[in-house]
Amino acid sequence: MSKKHYTLLVTTVALFSGTRGFASDVVLIHGHIYTGNEKIRWAQALAVTGSKIDAVGTDQEISSRREAKTQVIDLQGSTVIPGISDAHTHMWFGGRALRGFNFATPELRITVNEPDKLVAQLKAYAASHPKDKVLFGRGQFSVAPNSPVTHQLLDRAVPDRPLVIHGTGEHNLWVNGKALAMAGITDKPVADPLEEKYVVRDAQHHPTGVLIDPAMQLIVRALPPEPLEDRMAVLREAAHFLNSYGITSVVNATGNLKEIEVYGALRDRGQLTVRTRTSFAEVSVNHHLTPQFLADLEKARTTYHDDWVSANLVKFFSDGAGATSAQLQPAADGTQTRPWYEPADYQKTVLELDRRGYQIMTHSIGDAAARMVLDAYEQVEKINGPRDRRFRMEHLFSLTPQDIPRFLKLSVIADMQPSFCCSGNAPNRNHRWQTLEKTGATLAFSSDWPCTWPPDPYIGIQEAVTRQSRPFGNSASSPDPEYFMPEEAVTVEQAVNAYTRAAAYARFSEDKLGTLEPGKEADLVVLSQDIFTVAHEDIGKTKAMMTMAGGKVVFERPKL
Ligand SMILES: [Zn+2]
Repeated sequence: MSKKHYTLLVTTVALFSGTRGFASDVVLIHGHIYTGNEKIRWAQALAVTGSKIDAVGTDQEISSRREAKTQVIDLQGSTVIPGISDAHTHMWFGGRALRGFNFATPELRITVNEPDKLVAQLKAYAASHPKDKVLFGRGQFSVAPNSPVTHQLLDRAVPDRPLVIHGTGEHNLWVNGKALAMAGITDKPVADPLEEKYVVRDAQHHPTGVLIDPAMQLIVRALPPEPLEDRMAVLREAAHFLNSYGITSVVNATGNLKEIEVYGALRDRGQLTVRTRTSFAEVSVNHHLTPQFLADLEKARTTYHDDWVSANLVKFFSDGAGATSAQLQPAADGTQTRPWYEPADYQKTVLELDRRGYQIMTHSIGDAAARMVLDAYEQVEKINGPRDRRFRMEHLFSLTPQDIPRFLKLSVIADMQPSFCCSGNAPNRNHRWQTLEKTGATLAFSSDWPCTWPPDPYIGIQEAVTRQSRPFGNSASSPDPEYFMPEEAVTVEQAVNAYTRAAAYARFSEDKLGTLEPGKEADLVVLSQDIFTVAHEDIGKTKAMMTMAGGKVVFERPKL
């Protein structure tokens, strides 16, 4: 919490305690509260003082903490759950998409299949944003070399300044001619051979405008610097958007010191409404432990380690995204995707960062990558010795049966996205949620926002309990629901726990977040309906009606 906030709260608390003993600041009564606490799972009411919960119990017990100036929130029977802790987001990309154009939402979907419509929309967007030096947006497009996804098509709409369209999965960019020029991408190969490999070119070696995974850095490095105020606006908007879904804390799976400094600036102004823990990573770029990288990491964790802004986390990409991975050759042992790292390099890098005490999370889609990561984690623990390190793995579309028990054995947290399951037809994926749960491993859920749009945890819970595809989203285009390995579905309670308690554990915050108990931070969400009793296929219709973070209401929806 910011210094300013803190001062305000201290003043309030002092006033109250001076005049009325144990009276709470706020009481929430007449509720149906799922606490997530194994000892007392359900309660009617809870009381908040300052940023913390000071009591959970019956209406009668909590009403006794009420005095003249106590704010009373009558829940009128509404269901309340702990604030959603989204274990894997990219707030920077999400905020960018919110402020730019977004052609891949449930409400609006424009692709290259309607080129004239696409051009018209882009023209209109450019005309309404005359001051933007670079135009940003989000859309779904093919990365195949001979598709109509070309810079020429974008040049028809925006010929005069750079235009950058982020692919929905954040693993590729589609840019116009001005953006290629800004980044110095010509018919000649770029300097870095790895980046060059992922610049899509036509038969004449002309760049098409599509840049995949490591090649995206060519654009990222060429972007003009943005003033702090503008970057704060992007992330402030992202935080409010997350709050509107009941999300009160996140782990950012990409980031750097510059991004973390923006969260710090927002916190200092009392404008940060989501608790952030941010890793160091650029999409699909291998880490090299340069003196600058290590210095930034160290500065981030020594400067930012409070309830609202924290670091001490490094994210690795061990393979590509679903679509990109599918283009790679199957490995000799028949596994689906090849890891990006040489196993020895990956292990060496993780070993050194672990030795320095950083938490490690690794993106892993294919089973070969998962095997490499688990092997490395196992070796690192052997070499560096036991400690509470909470290794994490992200996505885990595909696991071989032999690797499943290793999550519990090695205390590796499995962070998975309900929205990534159950659609498309990629071979070998299995998304083994219930199997992992049964082994006793920690299963955390997340949206990977903006890869999932919107980052709606109630749609996520519905998907988690039904294993049914959503009618929109990442790769799904079929209007008919598909059910995928329904035996891997989890219960509503397991899904909520994965989005709250387990996610809090995965960010080292379980002593403060994840359940509603006295002494914990008052992070909670009031729901429009009871997700524990409505039909499973209706859970996704749930709305967050009120979101509280650190005892403050950060989002309120007008009555439905
Ligand atoms: Zn991600």
